Amino acid sequence: MKYISTRGDRTERGFCEILLEGLAPDGGLYLPTHYPKVDAATLSAWRGLPYPELAFAILSLYIDDIPAADLKALVAKTYTPGIFGTREITPLKPLEPGVQLEALSNGPTLAFKDMAMQLLGNLFEYELGRRGETLNILGATSGDTGSAAEYAMRGKQGVKVFMLSPHGRMSAFQQAQMFSLQDANIHNIAVEGVFDDCQDIVKAVSNDLEFKRRHKIGTVNSINWARLLAQVVYYFAGYFQATRHNEEQVSFAVPSGNFGNICAGHVARMMGLPIKRLVLATNENDVLDEFFRTGTYRVRGSAETHETSSPSMDISKASNFERFVFDLLGRDAARTRQLFKTEVEDHGAFTLSREEFARIAEYGFVSGSSTHADRLATIRDTWQRFATMIDTHTADGLKVARRHVEPGVPMIVLETALPAKFAETIVEALGREPDRPAAMRGIEQLPKRFTVMRVDAQAVKRFIAENA
Ligand SMILES: *Cc1c(COP(=O)(O)O)cnc(C)c1O
Repeated sequence: MKYISTRGDRTERGFCEILLEGLAPDGGLYLPTHYPKVDAATLSAWRGLPYPELAFAILSLYIDDIPAADLKALVAKTYTPGIFGTREITPLKPLEPGVQLEALSNGPTLAFKDMAMQLLGNLFEYELGRRGETLNILGATSGDTGSAAEYAMRGKQGVKVFMLSPHGRMSAFQQAQMFSLQDANIHNIAVEGVFDDCQDIVKAVSNDLEFKRRHKIGTVNSINWARLLAQVVYYFAGYFQATRHNEEQVSFAVPSGNFGNICAGHVARMMGLPIKRLVLATNENDVLDEFFRTGTYRVRGSAETHETSSPSMDISKASNFERFVFDLLGRDAARTRQLFKTEVEDHGAFTLSREEFARIAEYGFVSGSSTHADRLATIRDTWQRFATMIDTHTADGLKVARRHVEPGVPMIVLETALPAKFAETIVEALGREPDRPAAMRGIEQLPKRFTVMRVDAQAVKRFIAENA
């Protein structure tokens, strides 16, 4: 399998070549040259496979530059009950008839990003070891991504993490999750500013190409193809649990921000998994809902980006979205480039032609958005009727899912975080604290390891140079 860019660079690269890279050189995103089709016999053979074996079967369709035995071992050590809590790894939990949750957030940081990031940590360690190289991962986080990256990379050979976060602005729990890590290869940098300042520093450091090369700076952001690929697996796993034979269809509802999670659903559907609808749910930051309703994609400025109680979906620009548009346009790279490079970069928006917009239906997408009041009502209702506590992001997904339930088509709502991560809103909705997994009790009291720095890219560079 080879990979090409959405913006026309047709140089074909192998999986391991793009594993450690971000954007393609022409500014596009990497996609496989084609989606392997899974026929009925293969689906039948995969039904009933344990999660790690299913993951290996799917990944090996896309990865042919790691020996099969090695890939199998990497997958087997990633998806274990010890790390993800159950043998199923992503078990379904029934709610009302026809609607179930798929639990994706029982990994080390209690959010679905662990599903991909844990694999990425093992792939990075393997590939760097094979090449005899090292990598310094630099990132900015306001919560979920940074902690998932740190827990995936802690203790890994050849990898160090430098994670910037806004000092004093994360929840006590999120801060404790990251800052309590004592691993020598994890560096928490608390920046005396806001999240945008952290991101600006990352950009400034990455734009210094000489520094970037000398210190082997890399990233683990959500445009990484390996992350997306790892997420394809749980769409298959959810389908097999919700159905008994391959003539049945299901729909998935996905709380969305950067379009990474639901893009994996799109890939699964393109491979032939019988998915009827992909229900995209946003919060008040409804860039994507607007697109699927109107055909206009209009990115927002930071002044127009709301801080909500489902903060991991507070995005103004969906970094993976170009992948879907490329497929929607029949893989017309020139048109994709025009929309994303010329129109979005220069004017902040594009609108599809009528014919282009009409094709969306073939891809199964529908969408909706919800508000803080909706989240509170959904969390309360789910607790009262089903004694199930859900987090704010999952509540967005469930709320929108209910508008798209069809008779005879199971609706699977992806649970993207545990309520323990968002205690403040749970207390507001239910008047009680969420339960915490045993391993997370009292983490606020653990010793913390972090360095406070001013908003100063030079100081961050010095810190990296000293510790890399
Ligand atoms: C990252 C995240 C999302 C959004 O996922 P995308 O892949 O960016 O669309 C939703 N919910 C939670 C809890 C997250 O951490």
